[in-house]
Parts: sequence; C-alpha cells; structure tokens
Amino acid sequence: MTGRVDELLALARSTRGFMPDEEGAALYEAARRAGAAAAARRDGAPVFVEIGAWCGKSTIYLGAAAEAAGAVLFSVDHHRGSEENQPGWEHHEPDLVDPADGRIDTLPHWRRSVSAASLEGVVVGVVGDSPTIASCWRTPLDFCFIDGGHGEEPAWADYRGWAPLVAEGGLLAIHDVFPDPADGGRPPYELWCDATGSGDWEEDAACGSLRVLRRLRRTAE
Ligand code: SAH
Ligand code: MG
Repeated sequence: MTGRVDELLALARSTRGFMPDEEGAALYEAARRAGAAAAARRDGAPVFVEIGAWCGKSTIYLGAAAEAAGAVLFSVDHHRGSEENQPGWEHHEPDLVDPADGRIDTLPHWRRSVSAASLEGVVVGVVGDSPTIASCWRTPLDFCFIDGGHGEEPAWADYRGWAPLVAEGGLLAIHDVFPDPADGGRPPYELWCDATGSGDWEEDAACGSLRVLRRLRRTAE
C-alpha cells in the first residue's frame, strides 16, 4: 500500500494547480486521520468534501487519503474558475479557456487527473455552484477542505454553507490562510479567525497556509 500512496503523492505533486508540495502532504495526512477517526466512530464509508478542485491537484492528495481510509471524496467545483482566474486577473491561465465559448473550463483537466490516478472509484465530481450544493447537502462530513473562490463573498458563502455540515470530531481544512496581509488575501484568514474564536473548533494542524480545525461540538443545524 505504501507504494500506491507514494505513487499518488508523486502524481499530485506533478499535477497542475495551486498547492505547495508540503501543504499537499499535510492535506493528505489530515484527511487520512479524519478517515481513521470516522471509521472508529461509526460504520459506513467516511465522507470527504473538497470545495475548489481546479485541475485536480488537491483532488489527488485527498483521493489518496480517501482510498487509504475507505472513504468517498466529493469534489465540488463549477470548473469555470474563480474571479481571480478570469482574464486580466492575477491567476489567469489562457490555455484553460474553451475556444468554443471563450470561458474557462477545467473539467476536462480535472477528469484526466482523476483518471490518470485511477481514483474514479473513490472520487465523485460534483459540478456546480458550491453554496447551492451545500444548501441541499444533508450528510455529515468527516473531512471538509475549503479552497474555492477566495474573494470575500465566495469564501464566506463556502464557510457558512459547509462548515456547519462537519460532524463532531470531523476536520475542516482551510487553504490560503495568511495571518500577514503582505502574504495574501484576507478572507480565508478571516474564516479561520471566526472558527477559532467560536469555541466550536480546536486547532488540529497547520502547514504553510493550510490550517486544519477539529469540530468540538455542533451548534446551528
Ligand atoms: N484546490 C485546487 C485549487 C482550487 S482554485 C488545487 O489544488 O489546485 C479555486 C477553484 O474554486 C476554481 O477551480 C473555481 O472554479 C472554484 N470555484 C470558485 N467559486 C466557486 C463556486 N461558487 N462554486 C464552485 N466552485 C467554485
Ligand atoms: Mg488554495
């Protein structure tokens, strides 16, 4: 099994996306722990959700953990890119534009990544608007990774939509948390501050801009 995990982590590292190697390894490790904890708590496959998949880099890190833990990973993205990925913005990559309609489409890239990793058995793509999906979601989450739109409005919508769905004892990971404004945008850090200040979460792990929180108790349903 170690061979398979190493192979997947190497594949994730070489996949296009926005996740430094060390943070990816920490993401894998956190999800694997969440899966093991869920398996000890109850029967049934642990449920992982990622918000923001892009071309599938974090999907492979999390898919590797899902496979190891016997979990299912739901990978949520509309695959149209965030505001910051659109033409004229900082993180635009012109070759991801579909010439047929001039819009970003990362879905074919994501699909290729998941297929190349042979993870189609444990990864389910959910293509659509994250808050809309969250509003209809009922299954408690054992692991939730928030890395969708990083603007104020989308980041808070993801947090308000998904964080309440994390099971007691489950983990919430937030990417691009930068305490120093010189290092990056504010919203992910503000979500992390809200969570740590609420008393509902305890800090579990940190690596670079990746922060992992453990749910102590559930409040609003
Ligand atoms: N985790 C990825 C990077 C994600 S980039 C990696 O490892 O490389 C952020 C992603 O969030 C983009 O793919 C964008 O399409 C998605 N996104 C932004 N707003 C969204 C929304 N409202 N619903 C669904 N996906 C959204
Ligand atoms: Mg990110």
